[in-house]
Amino acid sequence: MLDAADKVVIRTFNEISEIESLPGFSDKNPINKDNYKKIIGDYNFEESLKCCFKKENGNLCLHDHKFGYVVELKDKSVSIIGNCCAKDKFDADAQIRIDRAKYNNRKRYEQVLQNVNNLLCEANSRVIELEGKKSALIGIKQYCDRVGSELGKPNFNRLMDMARTRNSVVLLAMITKKMGRIRTEMTLLKNGHSSNL
Ligand SMILES: [Zn+2]
Repeated sequence: MLDAADKVVIRTFNEISEIESLPGFSDKNPINKDNYKKIIGDYNFEESLKCCFKKENGNLCLHDHKFGYVVELKDKSVSIIGNCCAKDKFDADAQIRIDRAKYNNRKRYEQVLQNVNNLLCEANSRVIELEGKKSALIGIKQYCDRVGSELGKPNFNRLMDMARTRNSVVLLAMITKKMGRIRTEMTLLKNGHSSNL
């Protein structure tokens, strides 16, 4: 279990002004392995932000790395360092490299967690949507059962066949008996029109 000192807090800055308004932030504030304390956030934007890694010759890097970290120094002041410099300009066992790896791992983990949560939320809304459709289908089934019992099974089956085959032709046969003679009349119903056969 992590104690509070090891806990990595992810904070992504989206605007330069957010970084500049941090207490202790000062422009061109040099960062080296001796004064570095911890990473307090990351940034990734196109605006110009000068990297404050202090090189061995005493000059600052001053490149616009676009992507990098906001760090707190041991004197509690705040500065920024580009991703490339934080990764490549220190020995492998330097605290800033160790912290950078932990920070990136934690950020990836939280992003995966967020994606999983989003998928679960989406799944819940899909389940609710499907429950609604299921209720509607049960209503339709009950209606069909009622119509089927009122029409009689053969007629209902015929209607179902018509729906399935999209064939709306109905043949009516009327058989009458008059004076001992049987007469059959056939009528064809199609698209609302009838014709005798
Ligand atoms: Zn740099």
